[in-house]
Amino acid sequence: MLAGFGSRKQPAEGTTTELHAKALALQDAGGTRLVIVTTDLIGIPRPLRDRVEARVVKQFKLPAASLLLNASHTHCGPELRMTTTALEELSEERRQLTTEYCRRLEDALVALVGDSLADRSPARISYSHARAGFAMNRRLKNPDPEGEPYLNHPNPDGPVDHDVPVLQVTWKSPARRAILFGYACHNTTLFVNQYAGDYAGYAQSFLEQDHKETTALFLNGCSGDQNGFPRGTVELSRRHGRTLATAVEAAMQNRQVEVHGPLRVALGHVQLDYQPAPTRKQLEDYLAGVASPFKDYELTRTHAARLLRQIQKGHTLRRTYDFPVQTVRFGRQLVLVALAGETVVDYSLRLKKELRGNGAVWVSGYNNDVFAYIPSRRLLAEGGYEPRRSMNYVTGTIQPGPFDPSIEERIIGKVHELLRLTAPR
Ligand SMILES: [Zn+2]
Repeated sequence: MLAGFGSRKQPAEGTTTELHAKALALQDAGGTRLVIVTTDLIGIPRPLRDRVEARVVKQFKLPAASLLLNASHTHCGPELRMTTTALEELSEERRQLTTEYCRRLEDALVALVGDSLADRSPARISYSHARAGFAMNRRLKNPDPEGEPYLNHPNPDGPVDHDVPVLQVTWKSPARRAILFGYACHNTTLFVNQYAGDYAGYAQSFLEQDHKETTALFLNGCSGDQNGFPRGTVELSRRHGRTLATAVEAAMQNRQVEVHGPLRVALGHVQLDYQPAPTRKQLEDYLAGVASPFKDYELTRTHAARLLRQIQKGHTLRRTYDFPVQTVRFGRQLVLVALAGETVVDYSLRLKKELRGNGAVWVSGYNNDVFAYIPSRRLLAEGGYEPRRSMNYVTGTIQPGPFDPSIEERIIGKVHELLRLTAPR
């Protein structure tokens, strides 16, 4: 089964474009390493990160902070379910298939990290950036006061991050190049029941076709509330992929900043709080269909049933989440911030402002643990799909409800803390 759209009833019916995992391994003169793994997957389940991490720490002595796993968030990749919560509502057959696939994926990623670390030679690294305009904010204030406060609908006036950061790594023997590029746009511009990398997959393959001896890797941005418009067909997805590849080529022609060492990597966790969970009485009302915190009574009812089941099993509902934050300093030229979850654009816009003076700033989302939308304080105040309704869907973990508005300060605070710890001396 393909992951992402709950409405699908049939397994994948063929392939639009192949899916890839790719790795870029870097090591500075002092021996500090960084492996960036990009994947055409819906997300990185926490258990996948944990298992791959444990194995690469053991096999390759790669510190956890040196491993970055990113998901393009294509909705045309395989279903990944690894926790009891995620598995329990599946049929026996589907459970077996996804479990077997996740095991193979884990092995493949560990081998990929090992191969990339083994294949090293002196390289030059440069950074530049350009812009692409097809991502649009997808939250529109609902003119109907009776409906949800915000609709999932194009909003040409909402916040966006059109930056296309590009890291070029070139080496001589054999002459090759890696192009790592980012963009903040949901990778869901086509609807097919086939394997497909969506616009990010097209962008990578165009760059690899048009530039000899090149590996192109897509690092997802803070695209939680950004969609590519127009959208809906394979042709539109290909067109957005071409647009993004063209922006990457523009960046390659722009003035390059030579990136030097040392590499300074950091990985930390910050506790995020949820808003108080509904009471048992509230949950029973939700289940009975006589109350709902928002307009979708059916979704509220399914979620309430899950939470009540947890209570009946004697579990307490989750109050906090241990959220991973990763930072990388490339000398004094570039800072890469890798946030977990479906990070919304406010994080990259804010961090780019606050981190001025640290060289170029690249903020990425969908890293290491993609378990929920990560709303900002603003989105939590506004309501709608990302901060509120999406929390009622099953991911790896059962969420009791929306996050507390302190989420934004906690995450941003952790980023600053890690960057202080790794500040150049
Ligand atoms: Zn999403």
